[in-house]
Amino acid sequence: MNFEILLATNNKHKLQEVREILSPHGIIVYGISDLNLDYQEPIEDGKTYKDNALIKANSLKELTDMPIIADDSGLEIEALGNMPGMYSARFAKEKGGYDNAFRYIFDKTKENNKARFICDIIMVNMENKPLLFEGICEGKIAKEVKGDHGFGYDPIFIPDGYDNCFAELPREVKNNISHRGRALKKLLTYLRINGFIKK
Ligand code: IMP
Repeated sequence: MNFEILLATNNKHKLQEVREILSPHGIIVYGISDLNLDYQEPIEDGKTYKDNALIKANSLKELTDMPIIADDSGLEIEALGNMPGMYSARFAKEKGGYDNAFRYIFDKTKENNKARFICDIIMVNMENKPLLFEGICEGKIAKEVKGDHGFGYDPIFIPDGYDNCFAELPREVKNNISHRGRALKKLLTYLRINGFIKK
């Protein structure tokens, strides 16, 4: 039998990546719009990725008994004091879009271009406490925008061990090494050890 999970997001790119990573393991991932839920997006006013993932996961808890996962993620750039981090989506909006944000970032990372993506995934409706799975992907900021796969900061982030941006790499390569892919591998291990999935 398939294991079913609800992903607490309206971000269609995140949903696609989570589906690509989990479905080979027999997991059906529903998005909010797949289920007829009377859902109000919560205010993400937590102080950490973990807090915000918990806020998102809990916002659906009363609406379904299905296991719920929520992802809070961001790009930390050393030269910017680890900003934008949890504020990555808002940062791009405040700069007037990703292209402007990229120009700003290129300007600030000429000397030090070290960066990392972080992803905290919280799962609720599984045990009587929320479960946390964290993934980190170390890398650097590119010198120019490259590639057209993916979303967000994918066209300017080069993961360690590669010469290409996430947006240039095949999807399965990104999924294998990304912050989200790494967090989801930990989630898969938990589900396997507890007998919810076989492979
Ligand atoms: P959240 O939906 O509040 O967790 O915000 C995540 C934001 O971080 C996204 O909108 C992107 O700006 C950035 N981000 C997170 N993960 C990725 C990724 O895999 N690629 C590119 N940008 C990402």
